[in-house]
Amino acid sequence: MKEELYNIPLTDAFQAEDECPFCFVERKLEEHTLDFVLGPGASYMEDDVRAETDSFGFCRAHYKKMYEYGNRLGTGLILKTHFQKLNKELDEQIKMFAPSRTSLMGRLKGRKSQDTAAERTSLGAWANSREKSCYICNFYKNTYQRYLDTFFEMYRKDPAFKELFLKSKGFCIPHFGDLSEEADRVLPDKEKKAFFDQLLPLMKKNLERLYNDLDWFCDKFDYRFKDADWKTSKDALQRGMQKAAGGYPADPPYTSAK
Ligand SMILES: [Zn+2]
Ligand SMILES: [Zn+2]
Repeated sequence: MKEELYNIPLTDAFQAEDECPFCFVERKLEEHTLDFVLGPGASYMEDDVRAETDSFGFCRAHYKKMYEYGNRLGTGLILKTHFQKLNKELDEQIKMFAPSRTSLMGRLKGRKSQDTAAERTSLGAWANSREKSCYICNFYKNTYQRYLDTFFEMYRKDPAFKELFLKSKGFCIPHFGDLSEEADRVLPDKEKKAFFDQLLPLMKKNLERLYNDLDWFCDKFDYRFKDADWKTSKDALQRGMQKAAGGYPADPPYTSAK
């Protein structure tokens, strides 16, 4: 099964007036990928797709979404053949592994450097690479990159789009990070400053707005404000979580019924 190019106009994402237009894009891409992986097209019955899901596996967040999606047999088949691969890999790891000899000093030092990134064992490294490997994350990563490219193309060429950007509610922190990195990579030096002069106040203003929403949200639990208007704070929790870490915590599970 060939995957056709999936497109959501970036202007739709900005017009949705969400806390983050790139979260909007990401949600659509993720739903589309779930449909592709487990939906009625049954791509998991295609050898080439299955070879990839066998090899990549999925991350914790996407296993949860697959569980909720509702195709139990499809999910079972995908998992079953992924486990053939996992069992083979574990065998190889066991063959390769030998516990290291660590002196007392080494153990003490080791404990101190626990939060550094490097794993001490080949098993830890293997498990870590498994955890990070996900067919769904990988599937839409490249498409997401295209949206970042499109953003800067439109920002530079289309004044109406630039206006949408300036009037937006800014971005979540992770997507703000991506956007900053990409700006530094693609914008000519003389446009960089102008862009950051717009982006940074936009982020600051909108993070402060969320702080105020959260402040009033908490005040509303005080009996004195019980009957006061919620103003814009009723959904401050999910918007605050989105702003801080991306995603839509209040979304119901995405299921195959749609
Ligand atoms: Zn976002
Ligand atoms: Zn994933």
